[in-house]
Amino acid sequence: MVYIKGYECTICNSQYEVNEKLHTCPKCGEKGILEIIYDYQKIKSKMTKSYFANCTDNSMWRYHYTMSVEPGLRSKYLRVGGTPLYKAKHLCDIMGFKKIYIKDEGVNPTASLKDRASAVAVADAVALKAAIISCSSTGNAASSLAGNAARIGMNTVIFVPERTPEGKLSQLLIFGAKVIVVKGSYRDAFEMSQKAIKKWGWYNRNAAINPHLVEGKKTVALEIAEQMDWKVPDWVAVSVGDGCTIAGVYKGFHDLLQLGIIDRIPKLLGVQSDGCSPFVNAYVKKQKIEPTEENTIADSISVGIPRNPVKAIRAVEKSGGSWIAVSDHNILKAMKTLGSNEGIFTEPAGAASLEGAEEALKLGIIKPDETICIIATGNGLKDTKNALEIAGKPIYIEPDMNELIKIIGK
Ligand SMILES: *Cc1c(COP(=O)(O)O)cnc(C)c1O
Ligand SMILES: [Zn+2]
Repeated sequence: MVYIKGYECTICNSQYEVNEKLHTCPKCGEKGILEIIYDYQKIKSKMTKSYFANCTDNSMWRYHYTMSVEPGLRSKYLRVGGTPLYKAKHLCDIMGFKKIYIKDEGVNPTASLKDRASAVAVADAVALKAAIISCSSTGNAASSLAGNAARIGMNTVIFVPERTPEGKLSQLLIFGAKVIVVKGSYRDAFEMSQKAIKKWGWYNRNAAINPHLVEGKKTVALEIAEQMDWKVPDWVAVSVGDGCTIAGVYKGFHDLLQLGIIDRIPKLLGVQSDGCSPFVNAYVKKQKIEPTEENTIADSISVGIPRNPVKAIRAVEKSGGSWIAVSDHNILKAMKTLGSNEGIFTEPAGAASLEGAEEALKLGIIKPDETICIIATGNGLKDTKNALEIAGKPIYIEPDMNELIKIIGK
């Protein structure tokens, strides 16, 4: 049973009744991204604290009352969600935070937060009896769609830009996707996919366009809140590409506030690389979003034309949060700090949120007595090439104990 009241356009505020096929506002076209509106009164009687205490499903579907797609038999799917939240004591000592938590999304089935959206897409495509799902992606949306679809025997056509790291490309091919590498940028891949989806009528997993996907992504916020016993942190730091993830995080906390389960929404810190920072530029210059170059090693957030600007900007604004850009070099340093001090290996986009938080603390945006949660959005093994830039070097020796003793000592 799905408890939605309908859809609302994020641009013109037109409201629509529940309609499975509607993905964007007919009046505003592709830019008219829809927001799903829930019947919180009805959900309130279901999603109680005792529901959570007794629920044995540790996947993201435990939050199904505030989701817009009904999965049916859950064991058909990969197990998405239920990722750990770690208190990171060493990072507090090193960086000066009062309390910092790391949400490790790299342990999802295809090793990124994108699984939360792809699982919804796949469940929705099953309900709509679609034969093929398609998307364009900087990498993770694609590999997660391919994996989640493979599990239920559905075919995928995936458009990726040329720069997609090998780890992600190999995931796609192993999952059996038809992979189209577009010789160009992410925006070229995105445009090709939109045209193809229109022409062949495939199910559209492009995150900004499809309003159900944010409803999957938001489960990360629901999980963080539950893992903290409903006492949410002061801040949550999220790296931003298209803006769907941060919009989802906001929606998750927003839902819990409407349901009276939490008493405030954490401030959201949107983090980008300074090599590709359209949101930060718009925030600093108090202007509309302008397309920028895609010049960062953090491939997952290398998005020059964000596809979900309205929801993302609103999320940060309404939460009372802020935006920050950090350098690629510092992202890599944060990656190493997180790995060597907490045992969490995250890809550059994941490390960006940690670096953003540290710099926000130094700038006084985050106050010394405030608590923060970092979302480590994807696993570092997806992109070992960049990791090796900062990881350091191993020690090479002949197979000789004397040589080893020289290095280790007696
Ligand atoms: C997609 C992605 C992001 C950013 O999400 P958007 O919805 O594009 O803003 C951040 N980190 C990782 C690892 C991702 O795959
Ligand atoms: Zn509209």
